[in-house]
Amino acid sequence: MTTHRRLAGLPSELKKIVGKAQVIQEGEFFEEHRKDMADYEGTPAVVVRPQSEEQVSAIVQLANRREVPILAWGAGSSLTGAVVRDGAIVVDMRRFDRILKIDPVNWYVDVQPGVVLDDLGNALKAQGFFFPPDPASSFLCTVGGAIATGAGGMRCVRYGTMKDWVLALRVVLPNGEVTSLGEPLPKNRAGYDLVRLFVGSEGTLGIITQATLKILPLPGVRIRRMLVQFADWPTAGEAIKGLRKARVVPDLLEFLDRETIAAVNRSFDFHVEEAEATLLVDLEEPSIPAATEVFRVHHALGIRPAADEAEADRLYQVRARAYLALKERASGIQIEDVVVPIDRLAEYLRFVKEVAARHHVQIPVVGHAGDGNVHPAILYDKADAKSREAATAAFEEICRYAIRVGGSVTGEHGVGSQKVALFRAQLEAHGGGESLRLMKEIKRVFDPKGIMNPGKYVDAA
Ligand SMILES: Cc1cc2nc3c(=O)[nH]c(=O)nc-3n(C[C@H](O)[C@H](O)[C@H](O)COP(=O)(O)OP(=O)(O)OC[C@H]3O[C@@H](n4cnc5c(N)ncnc54)[C@H](O)[C@@H]3O)c2cc1C
Repeated sequence: MTTHRRLAGLPSELKKIVGKAQVIQEGEFFEEHRKDMADYEGTPAVVVRPQSEEQVSAIVQLANRREVPILAWGAGSSLTGAVVRDGAIVVDMRRFDRILKIDPVNWYVDVQPGVVLDDLGNALKAQGFFFPPDPASSFLCTVGGAIATGAGGMRCVRYGTMKDWVLALRVVLPNGEVTSLGEPLPKNRAGYDLVRLFVGSEGTLGIITQATLKILPLPGVRIRRMLVQFADWPTAGEAIKGLRKARVVPDLLEFLDRETIAAVNRSFDFHVEEAEATLLVDLEEPSIPAATEVFRVHHALGIRPAADEAEADRLYQVRARAYLALKERASGIQIEDVVVPIDRLAEYLRFVKEVAARHHVQIPVVGHAGDGNVHPAILYDKADAKSREAATAAFEEICRYAIRVGGSVTGEHGVGSQKVALFRAQLEAHGGGESLRLMKEIKRVFDPKGIMNPGKYVDAA
């Protein structure tokens, strides 16, 4: 079938499913769906806003019959091109915005995928609970998007990423069938773990219409937030190694360099001190003396606890807004997301400095240092071919370095269309070439016609 025939009359059929007002082909709302937050682009055939599982199923069946690419949209905050594609039916899931049940005995929450993570966090807090994974985009990103990207975040240093917190899902498969995966139980050994397969599948296996997430009671101990400053990046990396050796488990351990803090101060009118290397650290009170000793041994220039809760919150916002502030500093930005083994962190930070100097590009660094997942943000001038080339070369070098030292090319943002070749290179370098063949087979089993967010990730590798 030609593309023209596949798309002919599609909007009117969609309107029969969701109503006229929910099928969008132009205007501001449509334009919003042409770019993710790293400016990867793709123009949808049509954007559609369903509100029920039946509607999602009918839309997917239609896409399947006509063999039109289809993909789900959460908040479009992803950074790898995973959420954009030319000519696709883009299913905006933000009308799935209800928290269905908070279970205070079994410690889970049933939630729709369009709920913003911070809204979920606030609802849970009111009942004495929390959901640990907290990407820095939690003020805008959705539950569905966070599950599909397998998002990490700041508290992951203690609690792990999304893949550790999803108990069950309801999904619409690429043929339009609806199924449940998993159980709302702390233990469940019945069958292959298809829930985990869906977490981090980047919308390529189906559309999530409901999720059951594990929750925890708010911590009983007092947690203090502090800023710890160092004279240079590698020393901060060594201090993190020191914390590990001292068996200190922080609740949050983020790295920010001078340029990042300066950018946030400028963009959001914060006034945080600008040191060469800063760690933002959350510690449970009993572990503060051991951590302080580690910072002292590593010649911390200053250790400053937040004065009160309002300041603690401001410091968190400085970290959460870092990417948006850095994005304003140049016309182009490549945000990196490699993970290195934590004992290589200091060396890695030194390497990033060398790469920046070699390619004459600015690379501010910010991110989840406690996980070895620090994000170099490669800034470049979009209009200048040389600058673009330098940024790409720096990006490649950093990813290849991660592969060389036994790390991963992505800790949380995912592969999308950004890292397809590097993803393959990682698997091959680490003896996982055959696993890629299996992943491709799995994709074919779920989606034999290849309609669900095609042409990226496993498909393209
Ligand atoms: C300022 C900023 C900070 C960030 N910080 C972090 C961070 O700390 N950690 C981190 O991991 N990421 C971070 N990110 C990246 C991004 O925000 C996360 O990956 C986020 O989880 C994406 O959620 P979203 O709702 O915007 O998803 P989208 O961008 O809309 O979609 C992402 C992927 O999920 C799929 N998808 C969305 N909804 C569904 C659904 N219902 N069913 C099936 N598939 C679906 C899409 O098709 C796409 O492949 C950051 C981004 C920004 C802009």
